[in-house]
Amino acid sequence: MDELRKDPTRGHWVLMRPKGKPPQTGDCLYCPGVEQLTGPEIAAYRKDGPAPNTPGWSVRVVPEGDAYFRIEWELVREGVGMFDMITPRGASELIVESPRHDDTFATMDPEALEAVLWMYRDRLVDLKRDGQIRDILISRRHKKPGVPPHHPYSRVTAIPIVFGETRRELREAREYYQYKRRCLYCDMLRQEIGAEDRVVRLTPFFAALVPYAARTPLETWILPRQHGCSYEDTLRPESGPDLARLLSEYFRALAQGFGDPGYELVLHTAPNLRSRILQGDWATIRDDYHWHLEIVPQPERANRVGGIFVNETAPEVSAAELRQAWPGGAGRPQG
Ligand SMILES: [Zn+2]
Ligand SMILES: [Zn+2]
Repeated sequence: MDELRKDPTRGHWVLMRPKGKPPQTGDCLYCPGVEQLTGPEIAAYRKDGPAPNTPGWSVRVVPEGDAYFRIEWELVREGVGMFDMITPRGASELIVESPRHDDTFATMDPEALEAVLWMYRDRLVDLKRDGQIRDILISRRHKKPGVPPHHPYSRVTAIPIVFGETRRELREAREYYQYKRRCLYCDMLRQEIGAEDRVVRLTPFFAALVPYAARTPLETWILPRQHGCSYEDTLRPESGPDLARLLSEYFRALAQGFGDPGYELVLHTAPNLRSRILQGDWATIRDDYHWHLEIVPQPERANRVGGIFVNETAPEVSAAELRQAWPGGAGRPQG
């Protein structure tokens, strides 16, 4: 039986599960025409109305083949003597981003990319209706070493606990807010936009910057310039196209200026506020946390000593290189 077990000495959770199915080889399961091979469609955008599990879609969500977390499992929280166990009830979904097998965020046009961003929102809204789901991670990998090239998709992982990284980030933001009564990220944005040297691009609604303590060369964060803790509540008809255009340009800059490196993109957004367990959990989260996207090119090349990252390129240099490589860019952060 699959279960999440907590290591009480470090506070992290480990998923125990039997060995999964070997990865499928051969024909792609996500190309149009073989929709019935993926398991029942969860959501899709189609021009000609709903006809689930048929071609004609532009973005399509399907269950992940060898799911780590499953919605049909019963949620059980159990003490095992001094230890804690939870069943991995949740969801493992793939957002198939394009009908075209070799599309990437650098080749898709901004309108197609925007549809993926709206699907991120739709999945967050839908999954957060389930009070047993506490946290949802949306991420995508481009060119993972050791993984053959595959159809473009983002992965959605919804779980009955809060991801360790989310928990640490929420704690830092809350502590900063307790001292200063201001959002850490809003303060960071104000300072970075003032200083300019780590800003890659500014649009009416977003800022792309190389963070002060970037873990790897080219690490980039994209933050909404207006405060909001949840992606799904603050993505708007005005800001959606702006974000899509910014991402499209960023990934074209990476592809054309830096040899199309692999990368990991992760959406950092508030957990499911409906799933609060203790009174007072996340009491100030709407004011203290600020959703954003983090992109780490070539995460596998991150260099570390113990837990300390070693970055041999100054973030200010990386930001200047990204501005230079920007499509049509003249090295100025503002378009
Ligand atoms: Zn395909
Ligand atoms: Zn903020």
